Amino acid sequence: MNRKQDKHQDYRGQKIVKYLLLPMSACLAVILSIAFLFHLLGDDTRISGSQESIASQAVEAYETMPLSSAIEQTETTNTVPPETMQNTTTSIEVSDQEETQPHSTEQTASARYTYLPQSELKLYDGIADPRTVKARDVIDPHSFSALVNKGFTLPADFEPAELVPASGFDWFQLHPAAAAAWTDLRQACQQETGIVLYMTSAYRSFDVQNMLFNSALNRKGIAMSVGYNAYQGRSEHQLGLAIDIMDSNTSKNSTRFAQTETYGWMMKNAARFGFILRYPAHKVHITDYSYEPWHFRYVGIELANHLAEYDLTLEEYHGLGPLSDFITDPS
Ligand SMILES: [Zn+2]
Repeated sequence: MNRKQDKHQDYRGQKIVKYLLLPMSACLAVILSIAFLFHLLGDDTRISGSQESIASQAVEAYETMPLSSAIEQTETTNTVPPETMQNTTTSIEVSDQEETQPHSTEQTASARYTYLPQSELKLYDGIADPRTVKARDVIDPHSFSALVNKGFTLPADFEPAELVPASGFDWFQLHPAAAAAWTDLRQACQQETGIVLYMTSAYRSFDVQNMLFNSALNRKGIAMSVGYNAYQGRSEHQLGLAIDIMDSNTSKNSTRFAQTETYGWMMKNAARFGFILRYPAHKVHITDYSYEPWHFRYVGIELANHLAEYDLTLEEYHGLGPLSDFITDPS
């Protein structure tokens, strides 16, 4: 386990070097070159002012820029526009870009839950009633690695930059990258096993989630809802990156799906297409959700492989442990 953690730290370290230190060094070199050029060109007093202002503006711009944009800007050349999730237009393009799409890992590595007075938090079998959890804003909602859970909420008006119909299930919508991955996943599953994957849910708006949560509350009560039903704003379905699936052998989303050949295939192959099982049985204490064998989240191929290899949830990837660790006892 320690070796795995070390490797995970190495991975983070490599990312920091690749996406932060190298571009920063490059920036510094450019600033110094410009400053040196001005120094060669003329009047010392005037140039000293310009040089100072150029350098300070550059540093200020870099520091105030969201890290994800900084990474995109330093990674792309002047002739190629930065490829962001927002400007992806076709699913094929998204597929091609995916390997180069940086994850904003460094920015969210220090994610922390809000500390909660124990008297305020309501737990049912160790799982929190989301209405009693004070959530923070999701740190980088347009990143494929965005963490949305009981402790991190999306604004009511948040929508993915673009939504497209999911292949075979036109009435469901997904972020174009997730939609392209779903198409490939479904095709591969059918080719390799002969089994057809069914989609039972994809993008859900804040309002739809609000309706679903309240409906669950009315039907089965809070104790039965906390493990499976997300509160509005705290469902990653609102990102357009989550899918609920089943196959022709299962009639609805249930833990019985875990016994199917399809699920076995998914566990071996989902990461190949950028998906992870988001709420595994052995991580309930971390995710604060019951085991959901049907719920998969698109995070991109590189990150999905990393999480699968080191058996990490998105919470752990962002440096977070159990939600219940962030409860303070007022006494
Ligand atoms: Zn789901």
